[in-house]
Amino acid sequence: MTIKGIIFDFGFTLFYFDNPSVEKYYECFKKGLLKSISYLKERQVWSEKITDETFIKKFAKKREHFFRKCIKTKTEFPTTLIFQNVLESLSEDKIINNIDQIDLNTYNKLAEMYHSCEEEEWEPFENTRETLEKLTKKNVRIALISNHPNHQTIKNMLKKHDLAKFFDFIMTSAKYGKRKPDPTIFLYVLEKMGLESHTDSVIICGDEYADIIGAYRANLKSVLLERKYKFPFEKEIDKPNLIKISDILEILNFVE
Ligand SMILES: [Mg+2]
Repeated sequence: MTIKGIIFDFGFTLFYFDNPSVEKYYECFKKGLLKSISYLKERQVWSEKITDETFIKKFAKKREHFFRKCIKTKTEFPTTLIFQNVLESLSEDKIINNIDQIDLNTYNKLAEMYHSCEEEEWEPFENTRETLEKLTKKNVRIALISNHPNHQTIKNMLKKHDLAKFFDFIMTSAKYGKRKPDPTIFLYVLEKMGLESHTDSVIICGDEYADIIGAYRANLKSVLLERKYKFPFEKEIDKPNLIKISDILEILNFVE
């Protein structure tokens, strides 16, 4: 069977984050959030009634609330929405001013700043470029689906490493609204790749339960890229005949 298309996951499939730890993760987002706060102050959407620490606490609380909701409903709550909720509630309580100055572009900018530290941390695997180049030469259509709360961040990271050009289509849960393993996100991307009637010749390649089980629910083939270490609370992939690889380059073995 000739493979016509591959849909990759982003994190720990095409890109990695060095020494991931909860502490590093929090430090990274705090740095980003402080940038967003500076921007709000610059735009005078701020007042002496609030401190950076109070804002950070409120933001973390809202993020936690959305995170719980997201686990229950599999709906993505984009970072822009967290900013919007926090700022609207601070405005209602008359703690901050000038919220009417914030338009959609500003919310996008705040979210991008919040995730900016991530852009410095994620790096493509050593063989990512070569894999994408070889697949392109073989005329395989390539797409990406990432469970990420800010679409632009994923696009920025691909662009930064000059990899965006390899993709026929890029989708994130932030833009789509639902997260993997929801099968509809895969089917939507398949249609965008022009491969909706070639489900037999498409592979989903990812490192997690969400990728493999999502592919299974969408009736698509899947290949698991085995990570070197486990994540805490990771869901076991209980699927017979699971195909595994340990380096991204091995995906080429499935293409003629
Ligand atoms: Mg992943």
